Amino acid sequence: MATAYVDEFLPDALQFRPSTPLVDIGANLTHESFGRDLEAVIQRAQAAQVTTMIVTGTDIEHASQAVSLAQRYPGLYATAGIHPHDASQWNNDIAEQMAALHAAPEVVAVGECGLDFNRNFSTPQQQEQAFEAQLALAAESGLPLFIHERDAGQRMREMLHAWRDDISQAVVHCFTADRDTLFGYLDLDLHIGLTGWICDERRGQHLRPLVREIPLDRLMVETDCPYLLPRNLPTKLKGRRHEPALLPWIVRELAECRGISEAEMGAATTQTAQQFFRL
Ligand SMILES: [Zn+2]
Repeated sequence: MATAYVDEFLPDALQFRPSTPLVDIGANLTHESFGRDLEAVIQRAQAAQVTTMIVTGTDIEHASQAVSLAQRYPGLYATAGIHPHDASQWNNDIAEQMAALHAAPEVVAVGECGLDFNRNFSTPQQQEQAFEAQLALAAESGLPLFIHERDAGQRMREMLHAWRDDISQAVVHCFTADRDTLFGYLDLDLHIGLTGWICDERRGQHLRPLVREIPLDRLMVETDCPYLLPRNLPTKLKGRRHEPALLPWIVRELAECRGISEAEMGAATTQTAQQFFRL
């Protein structure tokens, strides 16, 4: 029985039944850690009311896999882009393959793309080049952008400022930066994605007061799973792999930071995501 299996993995204390359906706007379900039990992961998500998942595509291979998953499972959608870590791969051939992926009905955003000057796995120059090309693809396709930015807020704002009139909408996913950067993004009429980073008492404290500064029609929620397992879970999780079924714990924390109910936070972020990704 599928339902019996669904509840086996998560300890009772981690099971959560929110009253409103939720949208996880950043789930790396093509990650190898989901290779064995993806079906059960999706069932658990649905049992936890996480009825919609945007599967992040970070290069041609993973974006193609994300599209296949979206074709196979109702409630799943895909993004297609080249992550800044892999920006050194960018060339005309990849640009063409990306444009073809963006034409697929399952693809709801261009990305994950952007700038990561924290690790510089690709040089800043390569990152800017690949990001600029993907800004152009977003302008061409009319799709919203799914952006990654780490330690590159200033340059990101400059580049987006230059393109802002040409692109429809953009979300800075897994926002972890400071107040000034946040206001810079909000001034550019961008959306903000928040993850379980907010539940991290070591490095997420500065984000808590900022939750009140983000208008609810610009705020969306995501797990960024299998990464960033929230640190506020009431019990330990074997394997420490994050998954979409745990999104309600992040929504609970965000609601507390903002001083509203979980139901209100859930409903607002879901509505924002549906409008943003045109679901
Ligand atoms: Zn990212």
